[in-house]
Amino acid sequence: MKKIIVIPGDGIGQEITASAVEVLKKVDEKFKIGMEYETRDAGGTSYEKFGSPLTDETLDACKKADGVLFGAVGGKKWDSLPVHLRPEKAIFGLRKGLGLFANLRPTKVYPELINSSPLKKELVAGSDLLIVRELVGGIYFGPRCESETKDGVEQAWDTEIYSVPEIERITKLAFETAKIRRGKVTSVDKANVLAASRLWRKVVVDVAKNFPDVELNHLYVDNAAMQLVLNPKQFDVIVTNNIFGDILSDEAAVIGGSIGLMPSASIGEFTSLYEPIHGSAPDIAGQGIANPMGTILSAAMLLRYSLNRDDAAKAIETAIDRTLADGYRTADIFTDGFKKVGTNEVTEIIIKNI
Ligand code: NAD
Repeated sequence: MKKIIVIPGDGIGQEITASAVEVLKKVDEKFKIGMEYETRDAGGTSYEKFGSPLTDETLDACKKADGVLFGAVGGKKWDSLPVHLRPEKAIFGLRKGLGLFANLRPTKVYPELINSSPLKKELVAGSDLLIVRELVGGIYFGPRCESETKDGVEQAWDTEIYSVPEIERITKLAFETAKIRRGKVTSVDKANVLAASRLWRKVVVDVAKNFPDVELNHLYVDNAAMQLVLNPKQFDVIVTNNIFGDILSDEAAVIGGSIGLMPSASIGEFTSLYEPIHGSAPDIAGQGIANPMGTILSAAMLLRYSLNRDDAAKAIETAIDRTLADGYRTADIFTDGFKKVGTNEVTEIIIKNI
């Protein structure tokens, strides 16, 4: 049996993970995967029960599992807690504890939702790209100084450090992913200015030699940021460091125009974790109107990357395409002329479409 830890978290996390588990159960029935589920707490919900946003028991259970499906954490109620007790600490604890070294964020523009994109239709139609972001290295984790005085002037600094094995690991993942997509990798760096970027580019070129079927090109990050909105269709897989990936993945997230539909995967040394990119949406929690598609698509990524079941993943993705094509919309993506549905109703329709 494949063991999946389900962490609903806070706010709409409860509703959307319940939907995704229902969908996984249907897929399991059809594809005979053999999956079992264990629900664990994290975030504010865990703090209320155990006095900690992430317990050691939960982290251990995740380490032993085949995959983790995560909802979202956070809420006003816990905003004034000391930093180490805040819900967001659960995310950092899981990242560190599971060695989540890569974040994968696909951006797909659904033809049915193209009017929600802030960009011109003709520019974004057909875009389907994946950002592979290094998650545990670089400037966010390098040595830093919050404040020092030099020649009578206060200054602060951070350091960008990357080692060859760190770059090799993320690059290999990007190339392997490109092989099961459209076979193109764009590496984004700032090699014209930064030493760490020059090493990045050298290692990417070396790794690429093992993937002769995958096309490689390089872009400086400033140009990449521009190209993402000028011509997003040119991209298949983008691989980049922690800080550039942080910025570019948020930029890419708006191309499709629907935050409720965006999944993500964080690939780990032990176990990988799958979650929608949005937060716990406290403003709509408990109302039964949250869009569960980002979480359901995250569950599809779990099938693809942790259980090696591309067939089952595609079945979910196709079912979502069909649900949208049939005109069903949750409140966040609803416009006149379509059928408005709540979380449970849209989940049932997706399940019927599998
Ligand atoms: P948010 O993503 O939760 O919500 C932003 C807006 O989008 C809200 O209006 C919300 O109603 C809407 N929205 C988000 N997901 C939706 C969905 N699936 N269906 C329908 N509408 C949806 O961001 P926020 O309001 O800035 O943050 C709320 C809380 O979530 C905060 O405590 C924040 O720290 C936390 N947060 C957690 C994560 C995470 O767990 N990974 C990520 C981001 C924010």
